[in-house]
Amino acid sequence: MARYTGPKCRLCRREGEKLFLKGERCFTKCPLDGNKRYPPGAHGSRRRKKLSIYGLQLREKQKVKRIYGVLETQFRKFFEWARKMPGNTGENLLSLLERRLDNVVFRLGLASSRSQARQLVNHGHVEVNGKRVSIPSYLVKPGDIITIRDKAKKIPFIQENIESLDVSAVPTWLTIDKNKMEGKVVRNPIRTDITYPVNETLIIELYSK
Ligand code: SF4
Repeated sequence: MARYTGPKCRLCRREGEKLFLKGERCFTKCPLDGNKRYPPGAHGSRRRKKLSIYGLQLREKQKVKRIYGVLETQFRKFFEWARKMPGNTGENLLSLLERRLDNVVFRLGLASSRSQARQLVNHGHVEVNGKRVSIPSYLVKPGDIITIRDKAKKIPFIQENIESLDVSAVPTWLTIDKNKMEGKVVRNPIRTDITYPVNETLIIELYSK
């Protein structure tokens, strides 16, 4: 599946805020904590221009896509799906994105970033209900059990992730058993489970034009 493979920090600079795409490094060595707050590229003005309404909507959509590592076609599919579900489309969209297997592996603390989680899934190191699932966009549901396969439990960075895992930081729609490296989906995520600043209404307005 297609994915962005360029520099991650560039994406944060484009959005003008930290998107936390590199795990631990984002807390210790982030260029946005220094002086590189202006947009990337030769024409990146050091003074941010005031955005039009369309510009604000576009930037919000790009930000959410970048946080979850999803490209346009798939993001659009999620939006269409969210639109057909009962309830608020924006909240449905965020809930669907949160339920992606790569995001769940990251949220459980089994990976230090979504891209690392995606790699774990792609390489076949993750099981859902005892079966190997290598599709990062697989959507989990309540009751699903997510585990790291036995062979992969010895991979040093996975062990490091588990050792440094703070169980209290795992969102309440998930639970984790650190010793077994096993997570469980308790319920579907709701809007209040998503704590980073996102204005999903802007995205809905953009796609509704
Ligand atoms: Fe973004 Fe992390 Fe790079 Fe900082 S270190 S710019 S938060 S990816």
